[in-house]
Amino acid sequence: MLTQRPRGMHDILPQEASLWHEIEEAARRICARYGFSEVRTPILEHTELFQRGVGENTDIVEKEMYTFNDRGGRSMTLRPEGTAGAVRAYVEHKFYGGPQPVKWFYLGPMFRYERPQAGRQRQFHQFGVEVFGVADPAVDAEVIALGLDFVEDIGLKGLRLELNSVGCSQCRPVYRERLLAYYRPLREQLCEDCQGRLERNPLRLLDCKRETCKALAQRAPRIGEALCDECRAHDEGLHRHLDAAGIAYEINPRLVRGLDYYTRTAFEVVEEGIGAQGTVLGGGRYNGLVEELGGPSVPGIGFAAGLERLILALEQRRGEGASEAGVDVFGIALGDEASVELTGWLRRLRALGCRAERGFEGKSLKAQLKAADRLGARWALILGEEERRRGVVIVKDLTGGEQRELPALELESWWKETEHGTGR
Ligand SMILES: [Zn+2]
Ligand SMILES: [Zn+2]
Repeated sequence: MLTQRPRGMHDILPQEASLWHEIEEAARRICARYGFSEVRTPILEHTELFQRGVGENTDIVEKEMYTFNDRGGRSMTLRPEGTAGAVRAYVEHKFYGGPQPVKWFYLGPMFRYERPQAGRQRQFHQFGVEVFGVADPAVDAEVIALGLDFVEDIGLKGLRLELNSVGCSQCRPVYRERLLAYYRPLREQLCEDCQGRLERNPLRLLDCKRETCKALAQRAPRIGEALCDECRAHDEGLHRHLDAAGIAYEINPRLVRGLDYYTRTAFEVVEEGIGAQGTVLGGGRYNGLVEELGGPSVPGIGFAAGLERLILALEQRRGEGASEAGVDVFGIALGDEASVELTGWLRRLRALGCRAERGFEGKSLKAQLKAADRLGARWALILGEEERRRGVVIVKDLTGGEQRELPALELESWWKETEHGTGR
């Protein structure tokens, strides 16, 4: 147990880290273009925040949260998603009192006790955005465009945007009654889960993955026909904005988010070929959530993308093995005195931005050159006792094999010239 990581917890090893950096940098770059700023909320929150913010009757709250009492006896939970914490921070720091909209993004680990599988871990990572304070469908279009730009920027292809409206507190109850009227006589044909949530949350039946439930959902009444005038106008407005941005979409009437505070826009970006469920990014409008979490009535919209899924998709497309960080200079000292002197040189070179590595433990020249090769170093600096006494160093070009002697005092200017492409 001591040397085995917990189930569903993944070590991101150095050879994978560059892929993670790439994705995180893409997220930051695209967010900057859209004027979103980063928010970092705690990984641990009061359990009640998620009970209210994610919903008591969701799978997440019912069976997937890491919940425990802290030493003060308070019930705490490792965050299973990012929106609740962002809303809490927005309310707690009274951002609703300032200029709107407030546009935030977050990146970080989330925790859900689920059955681990490819692309799904118990500790997983999400990139998400939230916009508070503006109900204009232009905001919905910006959030969707940002999400698409992000997944396209990191190189995903074959993406499809699915869109739906889930109505609002005015029109959804009407739709709910229609759904109940449709499903009640079919109760016996539903899966056990759906039978359980039929009365509580009939909208959820629409996205059940069981074949029999799927077939029933195909013929179920559609929410589009039940939308109130305001919801319909919002939906049509969004379509106009998306058209103007050249963003193609498909209406999926079975795309629902079952909770009461979700309103109007719901969307998913689906990629063909990640497996059964290819959703790489999902989100929607939540005009009732800020109020539900103790704030004023403020509209909001956001999305979240699971980074493990994106990493998986990228690896599949690019083949295994991302490149390592890279080394400019590998220092080779032969003898104790030379080793000590090398320590000083490397520090000065690194201060100039040079990515420098070195050999240790007085290994042979051959062994150290091999180590330099393994790291893909561009240059070797070789310092033997004789060179040290003469105040010189050997600079060996590891790509061409040419080597020359250089006064040690010129090493820093050598690096500066090399770095600027005028190298010797
Ligand atoms: Zn409505
Ligand atoms: Zn079902």
